[in-house]
Amino acid sequence: MTSNAFGPPAAGAPPSAGETANAQPQRDPAETVAALRTAVPDCQWLTDRERMTPYECDGLAAYRRLPLAVVLPETEDQVCHILQACNRLQVPVVPRGAGTGLSGGATPITDGIVLSLAKFKKILNVDAYARTATVQPGVRNLAVSEAAAPYGLYYAPDPSSQIACTIGGNVSENSGGVHCLKYGLTVHNVLRVRAVTMAGEIVEFGSHALDTPGLDLLSVFIGSEGMFCVVTEVTVKLVPKPQVQQVIMASFDDVEAGGNAVAAIIAAGIIPAGLEMMDKPATQAVEAFVHAGYDLDAAAILLCEADGTAEEVAEEIARVSQVLRASGATRIQVSASEAERLRFWSGRKNAFPAAGRMSPDYYCMDGTIPRRTIGTLLKRIEAMQAQYGLRCINVFHAGDGNMHPLILFNGNDLDEWHRAEAFGSDILEACVELGGTVTGEHGVGIEKINSMCVQFSPEERDAFFAVKRAFDPAELLNPDKAIPTRARCAEYGKLHVRHGLLPHPELPRF
Ligand SMILES: Cc1cc2nc3c(=O)[nH]c(=O)nc-3n(C[C@H](O)[C@H](O)[C@H](O)COP(=O)(O)OP(=O)(O)OC[C@H]3O[C@@H](n4cnc5c(N)ncnc54)[C@H](O)[C@@H]3O)c2cc1C
Repeated sequence: MTSNAFGPPAAGAPPSAGETANAQPQRDPAETVAALRTAVPDCQWLTDRERMTPYECDGLAAYRRLPLAVVLPETEDQVCHILQACNRLQVPVVPRGAGTGLSGGATPITDGIVLSLAKFKKILNVDAYARTATVQPGVRNLAVSEAAAPYGLYYAPDPSSQIACTIGGNVSENSGGVHCLKYGLTVHNVLRVRAVTMAGEIVEFGSHALDTPGLDLLSVFIGSEGMFCVVTEVTVKLVPKPQVQQVIMASFDDVEAGGNAVAAIIAAGIIPAGLEMMDKPATQAVEAFVHAGYDLDAAAILLCEADGTAEEVAEEIARVSQVLRASGATRIQVSASEAERLRFWSGRKNAFPAAGRMSPDYYCMDGTIPRRTIGTLLKRIEAMQAQYGLRCINVFHAGDGNMHPLILFNGNDLDEWHRAEAFGSDILEACVELGGTVTGEHGVGIEKINSMCVQFSPEERDAFFAVKRAFDPAELLNPDKAIPTRARCAEYGKLHVRHGLLPHPELPRF
């Protein structure tokens, strides 16, 4: 959602703290904050409304709440003491990186604190021989590649938010990006995570080596949305910068044909360094914003990057072009210079902010489907636009089948927001129906918690809770996020919006 989004505060509200499986005791907020400050006095605490307001939401700005307090530790020792004190006083904790998350993972809890890792900004080590970097969690994604650049290396996962989002947030969301099709997601590019449990104990997952004995808890941990431990240090893999990179921009006069071309490229045995798609409304929004040189007559464009040596790139460009032509591409343009390549990508990377020029607010969905069904889903989204009376633009990681429909709405209009929410839920459920998932790379947070009821059985959700409790028995770390309780799913079943029709409009919605 756009940063200027002011969604309605109560309607469609996220789960309340009272819904936590393990309800927190009643207590005086001022006394709790005083007790925490006394327990950890050497940290920066923010407690007044004005200074806490920047923390009241993340990128899912329709949901806003002030926490009891915000704390900004500077050392791992302080993190341990904060968590120990919160554990003792049973105060919920929401860890926070840069707050760019789009699913409400860092949305505060009213009777809890926000633990910001913003001061953990040190790059501790770049080891060019081992091709690794060890960094604190508040380091920005792009800063890792900048630090590795003098050695001809970079960090491959590149979320479009990489200029701002942190490595701690990336680990917690298992973030992806344009280059993840070829180089893997965060989970494939992290070797080791050091973290602190709610009990204040320091734990390590993985190691500096390529493998570790025992259960692979590193993979379990990555993508745990701040619910297991607080990350304090991360060792990532670095990869050599390719000698040559070139992008093909291919135009299609039909979105379904564009979607099918994506499946055809992968089926031909080609794994490009990036394979992204944008529909016409998206290219038009972007072009007015960044002048990327997109074909504005096309119903959809594909951006396909080849990287490697000059010979490898030339061969891949020729093969991809052949597949694209056979799939009905109406125009093919290959970047003629590095400046042009960057210009093509800058359009894609700025697509979300560009949507903000078309509408007061946008709601960014994030579901994943099998590549062969991209065309089908796009057609269904087109039909849903008429059904819900809202526009939607599509810009997505096509190679991974990771869709990002951006639903345009006006947050000041309650009815529009309700329709946007229902539209979004229908898209996610269509993803499940087509054999995909309700999540892609933005996490579940509070945004998709109801859709988890559709995707997973009660037994599966119980198993997720059991894993969470293994790390956090009292359920104090980011409670009420990502895993829905049985009660919530039962409630959702009763209130579920189908085809824009609210079954009991007189009832307040959660
Ligand atoms: C314009 C825009 C484009 C985006 N593009 C992409 C994209 O291409 N790919 C993609 O994957 N995402 C994308 N995102 C989403 C977002 O940037 C990512 O999810 C990112 O990883 C969040 O990082 P953050 O530092 O902002 O984390 P936050 O939003 O602060 O937190 C995210 C989650 O991580 C937890 N967390 C944060 N730090 C820690 C820590 N140290 N220890 C434990 N838990 C922690 C929080 O509790 C929360 O649950 C985009 C967002 C925007 C606004």
